[in-house]
Amino acid sequence: MTMPEADSMAAADSPQALNIAQVAIDVPLDGVFDYHSPYPLLIGQRVVVPFGARKQVGVVTALPASTDLAPAKLKSVLQHFGEEPVLDAEFFALIRFCADYYQYPFGQALLSALPGRLRQTEPATARQQFSYSLNDTGVQAGVDALPPRQVVQRRLYAALLEHGALSESALTALSPGWRKAMAALQQLGWITEQQVYAGLRTALTASSVQPELNAEQAQAVHAILHQAQSFKPWLLHGITGSGKTEVYIRLLQSLLANNEDQALVLVPEINLTPQLEARFRTRLPDFPLVSLHSNLGESERLQNWRLAQSGAARIVIGTRLSVFTPMPRLKLIIVDEEHDTSYKQQDSMRYHARDVALVRAQRRQIPILLGSATPALETWHNAQSGRYGLLSLRQRAVSQSQLPAIRCVDVSKVSMQDGLSPQLIKAMRERMEKGEQSLLFINRRGYAPVLLCNACHWIAPCMRCSSRLVVHLRQGRLRCHHCGHEQKIVRQCPSCGNPDLHPTGHGTQRLEETLNQLLPGARVLRVDRDSTRRKNALSDMLSAVHAGEVDILVGTQMLAKGHDFPNLTLVGVLDTDSALFSPDFRASERLFAQLMQVAGRAGRADKPGEVLIQTTFPEHTLFNALRSQDFTAYAGSLLQERETTQFPPYEFLALIKAEANDFVPVQRFLQYAADTAREFGSEALIYDPVRPQMERLKGMERGQLLMQASSRQVMQPLLRQLTPLLRQHPLSNKIRWAIDVDPQEF
Ligand code: ADP
Ligand code: ZN
Ligand code: ZN
Repeated sequence: MTMPEADSMAAADSPQALNIAQVAIDVPLDGVFDYHSPYPLLIGQRVVVPFGARKQVGVVTALPASTDLAPAKLKSVLQHFGEEPVLDAEFFALIRFCADYYQYPFGQALLSALPGRLRQTEPATARQQFSYSLNDTGVQAGVDALPPRQVVQRRLYAALLEHGALSESALTALSPGWRKAMAALQQLGWITEQQVYAGLRTALTASSVQPELNAEQAQAVHAILHQAQSFKPWLLHGITGSGKTEVYIRLLQSLLANNEDQALVLVPEINLTPQLEARFRTRLPDFPLVSLHSNLGESERLQNWRLAQSGAARIVIGTRLSVFTPMPRLKLIIVDEEHDTSYKQQDSMRYHARDVALVRAQRRQIPILLGSATPALETWHNAQSGRYGLLSLRQRAVSQSQLPAIRCVDVSKVSMQDGLSPQLIKAMRERMEKGEQSLLFINRRGYAPVLLCNACHWIAPCMRCSSRLVVHLRQGRLRCHHCGHEQKIVRQCPSCGNPDLHPTGHGTQRLEETLNQLLPGARVLRVDRDSTRRKNALSDMLSAVHAGEVDILVGTQMLAKGHDFPNLTLVGVLDTDSALFSPDFRASERLFAQLMQVAGRAGRADKPGEVLIQTTFPEHTLFNALRSQDFTAYAGSLLQERETTQFPPYEFLALIKAEANDFVPVQRFLQYAADTAREFGSEALIYDPVRPQMERLKGMERGQLLMQASSRQVMQPLLRQLTPLLRQHPLSNKIRWAIDVDPQEF
């Protein structure tokens, strides 16, 4: 794979004093392209160039003195954006590393790391964004001066009082109709409107108390500060509520004081950013902070990105993609919930943001802090072997808050009522009587996972996938959760004509219905992808829970993360047994992490929590470890298992995935890959092509080839040899294929 040089080559004597520019373009071809430039250009500048019949945006990666292209073939740069800030060498180097490591075309990797506005063939401008805060008049007036009916106005008021200044996107997230309400507050003369950048520094309740660190927290902060001037990965291991975020805040306070340095904080999901962002803003009011995630409008995204690039933003909080954000004075990276699967990009360039962050920290020689209650086994292994520093927080930070008691209910020994055990029903009833909240965790949305004919055992299948259609009773639809296919519920078995078809099994909708019958008067709220489709639905629901308007929450993994419900004291876990025996070798690691996380929702304030897990296998080692909340022991046994079975982190994997309308070319392509890879005589183990568990997806027939090596030093040269040959193969353009290095999904 030819990689461009970011620095211009030594000036050779060139007879025709042409200005040559090497340009990276968003095309699925390797390498960069030479152009003649009528303008003086800089490395890192955006340009528009002709490519085939089209105009393409590109980035200048080098200014070589000559080109191999014949002068007649050399096309000219059409436009350049000289007034825009240029991309720096670190950015190029990081992209180059990733393109190389993840076997992805450099130009595509580079362009896809830029905000949308910078991928367009026009000058990129960000509309000036504003932020809003209450002025003294507003604060003194008090929320009760607003009519009770003006719900949105009151909500804005409360949020502004809590967070100080709010940006347009934060306000939109709060309430889509905020502009009208804000105009009303402005009419009252209560509001200060500022350009967002100025507003970054404002936080009204900056007085929010700074708790005294406990011994373990203090030790963690001290250890990291002590080695802050060099590359050092740290794992901060501590259960939910043990005070990890507090450690982040203290580190940022210390490291960013008295200098112009910057820090990058990666978070797994968009719906976690507003909470963390709000907390950082109130606790770190002196440091301009921007967030970067896909829910931002393009204009705000570009603006925030540029504030990071210029060094003006001192703290960047962002999801996966923000790991590439240029930050000239970056001195610390924090990866919160480092085990979270959303850090792995599952299409285009399949990078892992935590791993890229580690590479970035190493290249910059700065510390990187990985935080988690249930670290990825890869990370845990590194912390055990001493490659990463291990910092543990063993207790919940708030002393009154106790760990929840975790118990299993053996569902084979009790008579169940619509999927609920008597113990769980009783526990929910008790919570209702005490005015406390319960959460039922079930990872299956819809009414029932299958529609079954009891006469002939026909099950409604998806015609486009190897999967079953899920019953969505209220809408009268059958839906495939893999491809989105939808149809009316069939009334008669197409196989035997039986008119008596049964929705079988339990999903969130059915559970909601069951609860309404079993516990009349209970206020049940369902939180899943269906019920939160409307913009801001989730934040509205969370507010309702906080306001005490909900007795029982029924939710999928959306609810497992990050949300803090002080009045929630019971968590019921339903239907997780299938993950105990999944063919995916990461299934139990993930289930453990997920259950730890949901368990962490119970009893966060001063009320003790209880977790009831319904299972047929109460003595399974996973549940034993969970009951004692002993990640260390469980991780130890999982690692031993991985070592015997030769799976990561002891071995390194790469997967070639391919799909087409027909399986024959897929098989042929993968067989070619396998044969070729074997011919290289690499030490890597090349398996035979197989079909994945989901053989057909969205009408495509799928296949995959697994390669396994004892180290990256074995895997990487193999991939570097193989990829160009695969790209040249005649079937390469006829099927869809991709290389997934360090794959997470199989
Ligand atoms: P985590 O990020 O591990 O879930 P947090 O940092 O959010 O934990 O801390 C949980 C709660 O405990 C928060 O309300 C936080 O303000 C509080 N807290 C953290 N550290 C301390 C401390 N040393 N003393 C008192 N309260 C603390
Ligand atoms: Zn039938
Ligand atoms: Zn489907």
